[in-house]
Amino acid sequence: MSSRETKTDVILIGAGIMSATLGTLLKELAPEWEIKVFEKLANAGEESSNEWNNAGTGHAALCELNYTPEKSDGSIDISKAIKINEQFQLSRQFWSYLVNSNLIRNPQDFIRPIPHMSLVQGEKNVAFLKKRFKALSNNPLFQGMEFSDDPEKLKEWIPLIMEGRTSNEPIAATKIDSGTDVNFGALTRMLFDHLKSKNVEINYKHSVKDIKRTSDGSWKVKVYDIDSGKIEYHTAKFVFIGGGGGSLPLLQKTGIPESKHIGGFPVSGLFMVCNNPEVVAQHHAKVYGKAKVGAPPMSVPHLDTRYINNKKSLLFGPFAGFSPKFLKTGSNLDLIRTIKPNNILTMLAAGIKEMALTKYLIQQVMLSNEKRMEELREFVPNAKSEDWDIVVAGQRVQVIKDTEAGGKGTLQFGTEVVSAADGSIAALLGASPGASTSVHVMLEVLEKCFPQHMKEWEPKIKEMIPSYGVSLVENPELLHEIHNSTAKTLGLSEKEPVFS
Ligand SMILES: Cc1cc2nc3c(=O)[nH]c(=O)nc-3n(C[C@H](O)[C@H](O)[C@H](O)COP(=O)(O)OP(=O)(O)OC[C@H]3O[C@@H](n4cnc5c(N)ncnc54)[C@H](O)[C@@H]3O)c2cc1C
Repeated sequence: MSSRETKTDVILIGAGIMSATLGTLLKELAPEWEIKVFEKLANAGEESSNEWNNAGTGHAALCELNYTPEKSDGSIDISKAIKINEQFQLSRQFWSYLVNSNLIRNPQDFIRPIPHMSLVQGEKNVAFLKKRFKALSNNPLFQGMEFSDDPEKLKEWIPLIMEGRTSNEPIAATKIDSGTDVNFGALTRMLFDHLKSKNVEINYKHSVKDIKRTSDGSWKVKVYDIDSGKIEYHTAKFVFIGGGGGSLPLLQKTGIPESKHIGGFPVSGLFMVCNNPEVVAQHHAKVYGKAKVGAPPMSVPHLDTRYINNKKSLLFGPFAGFSPKFLKTGSNLDLIRTIKPNNILTMLAAGIKEMALTKYLIQQVMLSNEKRMEELREFVPNAKSEDWDIVVAGQRVQVIKDTEAGGKGTLQFGTEVVSAADGSIAALLGASPGASTSVHVMLEVLEKCFPQHMKEWEPKIKEMIPSYGVSLVENPELLHEIHNSTAKTLGLSEKEPVFS
């Protein structure tokens, strides 16, 4: 029997970084709106947003080689890198606004400066990196980037990676000090603490089971209270499905036309974490390599200094893998349950198209620890097995849909906001670049779902995010001003180049 029925303005499903960001934006823009959150786990930020479940890279395209593909004429396409960097600048501005307004405190608990580096080996790769460096380093968004193919210089930058390296192959790296390590778990928890202080009702251990439209166009959400075992019904004018990997099955339950012909492909991740403080102390950077042939873009190997609970750690990975679960805490039936008559052809087409990826993921799952150590030794030649443990990271559910460019069943590697035509419900699918661009993605939700309020909200959005609607690459003065002020507020200035 139902124990509770309520009506509210907004329901946020899931307590990850996306719902946290949307809730915080809405509380600033429409403080009088009543918001309820339903999260099936016992705390906020326990799934993909948790610090141990993702790599904590503040993705700004400073080091990720897959954001700067080489074109057929040999030139480097930097358009995606510019887009992602601009999106990360929105996050920096919003987080700075929250700190300056005392809505969250102690930014060093969630963001730290750390050099971002790209590292390649072999003549062809070195030539690519040099071209990439030339294409980016004159762009104001990438100011301060350095390139070196001098092993002596590289020993200064990355002693742990250079020590014991016997290969005579050419090697090169770029380095930029304005990179960041972001503890998205800590940030998510801070934002939910803030939302609680603003009277947002946060219901943990409440699992959403169904979402149906009511006769007046609102949405009725069926929720299972895990502790009491009772079913509740909550109605809202607007629902955001921020369930991470769990978003697709919930979106399908809404029955909206936009939810059809979409499937999900789960990719799991493993990291190796260093347990030897002496080794950890020898590295200070996030160093991204090149993806192996057949590997999905999010499986680019990287050796990362991380700051978790004020402790410096060192992670290597991710090793991709296949698991049919859509959430780390999900069920082995997750994938099969999302195959519906309307998306079965899309899913089958993707299965045929992505044979190479499937093969790669199966190979990754089969890797023994010693094989993983061999991959690590490509980065850290002297790595010892006893210094490294395995941690299981989160699940990423990549979107499969039919596209004009890719045809039926095309695997997407970005994030997608799927919303009803009337803007009453929206879901976020996909997980890349992910948490780093949560502010940009949640602004997209506002634009899609609340077009009637955007004019009234714009001044407040610009107060929080001065570059909203403006291209920073075309406005270098504004970029410099924002970069310097956010670096100061977020405590990133010490190691970052100050723009003049
Ligand atoms: C291995 C890996 C590495 C990554 N590295 C990076 C990185 O370096 N930088 C970066 O920016 N991003 C990275 N990401 C992506 C990033 O972690 C995600 O994009 C982001 O955390 C997603 O946030 P979210 O709020 O959508 O989902 P989540 O944090 O997963 O939150 C969703 C929440 O919804 C809850 N939920 C699900 N279904 C239900 C239901 N039915 N009822 C109630 N609650 C429900 C879940 O329990 C969960 O708490 C990485 C991800 C992975 C997996």
